[in-house]
Amino acid sequence: MVKIRNITSLILEHFPMCCAEDWDNPGLQLGREGAPVTRVLVALELTRDVFEEAREWGAELILTHHPFIFKPIKSVTDASCEGRLLLDLAEAHIGLLAAHTNLDSVPHGIGEKLARDLGLSGLRPVVGTRPFEAYKIVTFIPEADAEQVVQAMHAQGAGCVGQYRDVSFWGTGEGRFTGDASSHPAIGVAGEPERVREVRVEMIVSSRELGAVTRALLDTHPYEEPAYDVFKLESQVHGLTDVYGFGVAGRLAEAVELSDLISRVREVWQIDSVRAAGDPHRRVLQVAILNGSGARYLGKCAAQGIDAYITGDCGHHDFDAARRLGIALIDAGHYDTEKCIPDILADVLRQSKYGAELDVRVSTRMENPMRVYGA
Ligand SMILES: [Zn+2]
Repeated sequence: MVKIRNITSLILEHFPMCCAEDWDNPGLQLGREGAPVTRVLVALELTRDVFEEAREWGAELILTHHPFIFKPIKSVTDASCEGRLLLDLAEAHIGLLAAHTNLDSVPHGIGEKLARDLGLSGLRPVVGTRPFEAYKIVTFIPEADAEQVVQAMHAQGAGCVGQYRDVSFWGTGEGRFTGDASSHPAIGVAGEPERVREVRVEMIVSSRELGAVTRALLDTHPYEEPAYDVFKLESQVHGLTDVYGFGVAGRLAEAVELSDLISRVREVWQIDSVRAAGDPHRRVLQVAILNGSGARYLGKCAAQGIDAYITGDCGHHDFDAARRLGIALIDAGHYDTEKCIPDILADVLRQSKYGAELDVRVSTRMENPMRVYGA
């Protein structure tokens, strides 16, 4: 039976907490970690309609992009609409989990999807970091126990390289040791020299999993003093030392007029109207996109030679700054640049090891809280 804690771990494995912005509040917001889950409703954010949909359908968990509990709250009572919604959730035994800027920042995620929708290539983050480092862990295990130890290390994430998992190198040799009188050797006798056929196993491991992998090794290795070495690697390992970051910048196949790019944005993401600063006839080639609310990176985009920046939640002063910086700014809407995120989250659950045990549905009652009139 899948528990809420399993889904939380899975989501945080895909979208690590350390990659969230400091001001953010993703993760499990409400619920008992041990509660069973069979149905998960996914939405951009929690609303009364989404809650009703989850309750009617019998979902035990709602997974959203925007954290409902965002700023610190002092009480949860029926005196506020937020409190009433949280109480209703708790009374209906529905948990609430969010993946927010930790989702935004992962490589090959929402930013890359939006960039590919527009036909950009040569993709890179507008603001990027490498949060994880690559290590190699080497251990020496008696032949009879090697399989069990290695499987336990794999289960914690050792040996993942790009599209490959359970990657390891094995070589056999002889281990020699003599325990002192107080030792309790798993093989041989205290005080007597011993020789054992051992396997040397090498695996790549990310700094993210190094602690868990080392614990798995120590917990399953039969020796009183297991021998293992950990080396920090200078090489970049695909899928393990990837660049995380916010926003994706890239290049169109050929320069187009700003008005053409705007038409493409509206068509590809089915947006009724957008707001933009910049001469509609100016040529644009280098384009950056940041889903949601990204005006704070306008200066960074301009400094990187971006011709047009697409994001949401832009205000008058952002458009004014864009005019001053000579960069075109397209406000495609917070909702419209993020309405595909529930599908991304749903796919993570469906394609996971829990997929067969879960019924996952994207909310049919989520909608843009803002409507445009006169477009
Ligand atoms: Zn958002």
